[in-house]
Amino acid sequence: MSTTETTSTLDRVPIFSGGEFLECNSARTAKVFNPSTGQAIAEVPLCSAEETNGVVQSAVNAFDDWNETPVVERARLMFRMRQLMEERFNEIAALVTREHGKTLAESRAEVQRAVEMVEFACGIPSLIVGETMANIAVDVDAETVRHPLGVCVGITPYNFPSMVPMWMIPVALVCGNTFVLKPSEKTPLSAVLLGELLREAGIPEGVFNIVHGDKECVDALLTHPKVAAVSFVGSTPIAKYIYETGTKNGKRVQAAGGAKNHLIIMPDADLDISVKALAVSAFGCGGQRCMAGSIAVAIGSIGDPLIDGLRNHAGQMRVGPSDGNEDVDMGPLIRREHVDRVASYMDIARNEGATIAVDGRQDFAGDGFLIGPSVIDQVQAPMKVAQDEIFGPVLSVIRATDLESVLELGRACPFGNGASIFTRDGYAARQFKRHFNAGMIGVNVGVPAPMPWFPFTGWNQSFFGDLHIQGTESVQFYTQQKMTLTRWFGSTSDSHQDPVWKTERKNDQ
Ligand code: NAD
Repeated sequence: MSTTETTSTLDRVPIFSGGEFLECNSARTAKVFNPSTGQAIAEVPLCSAEETNGVVQSAVNAFDDWNETPVVERARLMFRMRQLMEERFNEIAALVTREHGKTLAESRAEVQRAVEMVEFACGIPSLIVGETMANIAVDVDAETVRHPLGVCVGITPYNFPSMVPMWMIPVALVCGNTFVLKPSEKTPLSAVLLGELLREAGIPEGVFNIVHGDKECVDALLTHPKVAAVSFVGSTPIAKYIYETGTKNGKRVQAAGGAKNHLIIMPDADLDISVKALAVSAFGCGGQRCMAGSIAVAIGSIGDPLIDGLRNHAGQMRVGPSDGNEDVDMGPLIRREHVDRVASYMDIARNEGATIAVDGRQDFAGDGFLIGPSVIDQVQAPMKVAQDEIFGPVLSVIRATDLESVLELGRACPFGNGASIFTRDGYAARQFKRHFNAGMIGVNVGVPAPMPWFPFTGWNQSFFGDLHIQGTESVQFYTQQKMTLTRWFGSTSDSHQDPVWKTERKNDQ
């Protein structure tokens, strides 16, 4: 990340605190780039601990009133938010493309997922209904009620600037929490636009807030005594750090990390469908998805035709600047340094004995952060390309003889986000679903990412915590239960006795 202490003519990205967009005068800043042009388009403040604490305080101040606001009113705010997102859909998508680089079609798909998260949150009143049991002891009734946690924090990655914040914000808010979002300093603009829409939807002052920054800001959030819970999405080393630091400081934490996802192609798979699905999975969003297929395992005779199919497909992909340009299949990556890092894996793979079937290193016109799709053949499991999360448009192909060796690859993988099998064989699919060591499985589906009504169930080092993002687990994450026992007296004759802890048992009499 480039930080600077100089004064700049770039627009400064505002924070959102206490219902107002404010300029944070932090001396440290980072540049936000348009990856299609390579130009800086804004400057984001890297807030100090003190500035961060100020933003948290506005969420603290707003909590009591928001907690007292009936859940149906909190949900109604999300109905308005949904409407605004629909009205401004193309504007949000264009901004995602502008600051991230994914194609406009990919940005629209992302914003659609974000809208669906809001739709899920509109239904939360029916998900936080408590339980009761009448007469759990004589004249005693028991009930549970879900309460919010207090101030919740979201720390999000660069790769889904509108969707990942919306994995958290609508659920946390409708459950009655106030919220502080710390978006990626690489893509903070979409978060600010979402904040504007929430304000337009009528969010009360301080209920939703945005702070910007890096480690100093994040550490202030993780250690603030009034922060009750932290939701994190990002790379595995940082996810682990967030989980360990947050829980050590008494916070409830869910931390989703990185991935290395396997795509298995059985000899009986439909080749054309599989090639297309593999290419979308591995090269979509420039490979910058935590559910991107990164290792293809070709079983038996399908290996050579698969490589031919991938070579053809990659050769036809139009790679170029995506901002304002619909005629591309793949846009730029997030930063020049990231392009260089992804490109370096070609030589690493060759030196380790793999062969480069498609080399994405090409000369592109302009200053955009561009690289083409790559396919690396004859990869072995211990090689770096098979171990590292490259997070770029690189598909490594491992040749294998049977499904059992695929299951072994899964067992050896430290990550555990997604994996898919392509086959016409129901039994092979069943074996794979049941035994592959990952939390999200696809059968003839290239990107088995769940819809909002299902949890985003990363396993192993792809997730740290107990309750996942999305679905009913997210409602559990953002609420705590209170159990109440109530006794009303029909007569006062044995009122001195506690009916629950009564010591004499009928059988003993
Ligand atoms: P990242 O880990 O670099 O950054 C994520 C967030 O952590 C950002 O807000 C960043 O400012 C903050 N951060 C970075 N370094 C920090 C530090 N030292 N201390 C405290 N905070 C720090 O991730 P990224 O590069 O923005 O995003 C890509 C990664 O996110 C990939 O690994 C990808 O697999 C992962 N991801 C995972 C999921 C999932 O659901 N599992 C979803 C999307 C992305």
